[in-house]
Amino acid sequence: GLRPLIAGNWKMNGLKASASELGQMIAGAGGPAQKADLLICPPATLVLAFAGAVQGSPLRIGAQDCHPNPSGAHTGDTSAEMLADSGATAIIVGHSERRADHGETDALVRQKAEAAWRAALIAIVCVGETQDQRDAGQTLEVVGRQLAGSLPDGATAANLVVAYEPVWAIGTGRTPTPKDVQDVHGFIRDQLTQRFSGEGARIRILYGGSVKPSNAAELMAVPNVNGALIGGASLKATDFLAIAGAV
Ligand code: 13P
Repeated sequence: GLRPLIAGNWKMNGLKASASELGQMIAGAGGPAQKADLLICPPATLVLAFAGAVQGSPLRIGAQDCHPNPSGAHTGDTSAEMLADSGATAIIVGHSERRADHGETDALVRQKAEAAWRAALIAIVCVGETQDQRDAGQTLEVVGRQLAGSLPDGATAANLVVAYEPVWAIGTGRTPTPKDVQDVHGFIRDQLTQRFSGEGARIRILYGGSVKPSNAAELMAVPNVNGALIGGASLKATDFLAIAGAV
């Protein structure tokens, strides 16, 4: 199987003092958690400090968003080049909270993924259906459209990670059944191999949405689940390491 990736998305949480939580993650990263690649995506304000702190450890630091352009008159935005310069190795793009809160389209998400590649960073592209879309039986249609529109040409196992995050499972404590996860991840795998042939078979597909220590082993055992994108539970070193140890 593919080497799993356990990624934490801290969203808009974390202050300088959170370095102590990161320190506990670094301290525990050599234990059972070392079966997986480990990535923490703090807010942009902490990327520089955290990237310095993880040097010499297996932990990597990522970011949560970027502007498509490398620089310019875009007040308040941050470029992929700036995040790379700060020590990030990956950028989450197209998270449902950005699609919803900032009206991000598939075309914009694709541009952001290309920006991550331009800066030699891994793009973690998020897709996932809403509750209404699932209820209407549109899950695969929605995910297929998001993949087609959000993934740039030229994806490889080294530059792309896909995260399946059903919107209704994010922060709700609700998760799809293993069968439902298997169906969507299998569909994503098919789309990736059709479009990127051999590389598509090796691109990691993460599951995200209410992953916690108590459900991680079951979810990570599902075929074509190659790791997790964790929100709330990634803020606690004990929970994050327990999930990583469950792969
Ligand atoms: P939760 O783990 O808090 O449900 O968040 C998932 C998520 O959105 C990760 O990007």
